[in-house]
Amino acid sequence: MQHTISHELFSKAQQVIPGGVNSPVRAFKAVGGNPVFIKSAKGAYLHDEDGNQYIEFINSWGPMLLGHANPVIEEAVREAISSSLSFGAPTRREVEMAELIIDMVPSVEKVRMVNSGTEATMSAIRVARGYTGREKIIKFEGCYHGHGDSFLIAAGSGAVTLGVPDSPGVTKGVANDTLTAPYNDLAAVQMLVAANPNQIAAIIIEPVAGNMGLVLPKEGFLEGLRELCTREGIVLIFDEVMTGFRLARGGAQERLGVMPDMTTLGKIIGGGMPVGAYGGKREIMDCVAPAGPVYQAGTLSGNPVAMAAGLAMLRYLNTHPEVYTLLEQTSQTIVNDIRANCKALDLNLTINHIGSMFTVFFTDKPVVDFTTAKQSDLAAFGRYFQAMLHEGVYLAPSQFESLFVSTALAEPTLLQQVAQANKKALAAAFGK
Ligand SMILES: *Cc1c(COP(=O)(O)O)cnc(C)c1O
Repeated sequence: MQHTISHELFSKAQQVIPGGVNSPVRAFKAVGGNPVFIKSAKGAYLHDEDGNQYIEFINSWGPMLLGHANPVIEEAVREAISSSLSFGAPTRREVEMAELIIDMVPSVEKVRMVNSGTEATMSAIRVARGYTGREKIIKFEGCYHGHGDSFLIAAGSGAVTLGVPDSPGVTKGVANDTLTAPYNDLAAVQMLVAANPNQIAAIIIEPVAGNMGLVLPKEGFLEGLRELCTREGIVLIFDEVMTGFRLARGGAQERLGVMPDMTTLGKIIGGGMPVGAYGGKREIMDCVAPAGPVYQAGTLSGNPVAMAAGLAMLRYLNTHPEVYTLLEQTSQTIVNDIRANCKALDLNLTINHIGSMFTVFFTDKPVVDFTTAKQSDLAAFGRYFQAMLHEGVYLAPSQFESLFVSTALAEPTLLQQVAQANKKALAAAFGK
């Protein structure tokens, strides 16, 4: 497999773009080698600048749930662009979009559109602070909520340790207002809340965590957070930027039956266009300007082309429940194949899986939080990643990511190809 053009482009890119990429996860830093430059994609396949073809497990980090260049979404976009790309004034599609989100996501009663997941989470905590009159938030170690200052906080060594900035440029002041707890550790959260009485505005969590690799909430964990938040007047925010419209029509909250006060959305909601949203209880969302005093705005928010793409995606999902059955079946087949390969090669790897998300952790221990995720053999993962790429399967270039299945993968021959590639790559990674 040749990557000459990709390599040339990457050397040029490094001269003019920090690290050669416009988002760090696209670099191959964790796995070695250089990123491939993508030229086009269709269905389950990516095509790079050198003419190589790959079966796709990133799917733009989630949005391409129905595969690439899906005609349902393409046609909606084509229709929208002939009526001008932006007005900065209200449009019919924004109303339809809001109605549809409220219909699909169980806990959302009012919703505001923004342009990314980052904007959605940043705005949601501002609103939670405005609503409660409190300043601190609790987040979980290993959960990613976009690159807003408040979220770039590493966990301290103990549950009650104050956050320290994870990135230069984040002030101590901001870090002091973000408290962190290990995922799945309800007792740690209870201690933080007890140690900061009437000071916690919000607890923000990925109800199913996908940004430390896939980690599922333990039985009773989300329910415990729900009870705690209700009792203490804390706004519970589910960051469903990744899980929304993926784990079910109504996201993780529908699938797991626990309702947050606010929800943040992104990724699938734009069908591939830059869209985010935050919503929740009417009483909370009515704090947002111009209805209320909490300011949040956006020149391109609710952009007509982005709304057209998102609406087409959500309408399709809303009227085609079989999409979710197909995603479940396809993902289960892939995971079963990987398990069978591991067994055949006498490997004991931990596979976390729910719906159309899964991560193969290169460890034999259960992975329930960031600490256990970090026990993975990253060198072996790197070898596995490179071998998969060589076999024509494009995985996320990090152990700490979930893989995303699209409906376009639901072809028996394609799944067989993936299973065979997986077997070879596992063997290569472990020298078997
Ligand atoms: C991707 C992601 C974000 C950030 O969304 P962007 O659109 O990249 O800003 C926030 N939260 C979660 C859970 C995500 O997966």
